[in-house]
Amino acid sequence: MDIQGKTIVITGAARGLGAAMAKRLAPHKPVLALVDLKVDDLAAVATACEQLGATVQRFGANVAKEADVIGLFDQIVAKCGAVHALVNNAGITRDALLIKYKDGKVESKMSLDQWQAVLDVNLTGVFLCGREAAERMIVGGVRGVIINISSISRAGNAGQTNYSAAKAGVAAMAVTWAKELARYGIRAAAIAPGFINTEMVAGMKPEAREKLTSGIPLQRMGEPDEIAQTVEFILENDYVSGRVFEIDGALRL
Ligand code: NAP
Repeated sequence: MDIQGKTIVITGAARGLGAAMAKRLAPHKPVLALVDLKVDDLAAVATACEQLGATVQRFGANVAKEADVIGLFDQIVAKCGAVHALVNNAGITRDALLIKYKDGKVESKMSLDQWQAVLDVNLTGVFLCGREAAERMIVGGVRGVIINISSISRAGNAGQTNYSAAKAGVAAMAVTWAKELARYGIRAAAIAPGFINTEMVAGMKPEAREKLTSGIPLQRMGEPDEIAQTVEFILENDYVSGRVFEIDGALRL
């Protein structure tokens, strides 16, 4: 796909990896439909992308709510004319051990709220956005692309029962969609990042940061732009579909 002039939807675009993806794609002069919970949070990234050459539309929506997502994609088509690509990036964590047992007693359990909050955003949100984007691509005759942001945790990470389950799910969904939607010329893929140097990580103490990076064979965290580069590659390469790209400096959990 030639990115120029194409409408590319990025969820969770206000910061972190989503913002990096928007800035990486902006010089190709796409129409960026940037989505986040609060539309005002998208102001800074929208300005930066416009300065880099993109046309930008901002949208506030909760990807976990079906009515929000249907309304979102209707608005995107109304304002941008079509949906050519979707990056399902919005995600949250609510980490906890399944069971915390110490000195002969259960101290805590992962709550149903913790489980449900992560599944709602990270799994159901991806399903809803993927479904609505695919419908509009098919109806509009667009040979589009859907990219789901998974995680290295999809292999199973202690303290992340909820997150690991959701991230395994979105990787499997990308493969499923690649098979189901190929007949319409739609491609789908997933990216499973390792530890990436986002704002959250930047605030860590040097000792904690050191401990984290020492276990990574490449001895450093990934940069947000290295994930964005993978998004750009998947969009541009028309023979890429149905695969999960592990961008993790060779780390294995
Ligand atoms: P981030 O900095 O927390 O940014 C996520 C964005 O998504 C925030 O702007 C957030 O808004 C928004 N968001 C949260 N819930 C939403 C909802 N229900 N509807 C719409 N937007 C919502 O996260 P990140 O580190 O950039 O991560 C981006 C994606 O990469 C996530 O799917 C994450 O699981 C995945 N990932 C990240 C890493 C990493 O090391 N950073 C590694 C592997 C995978 P608020 O600020 O208002 O909450």
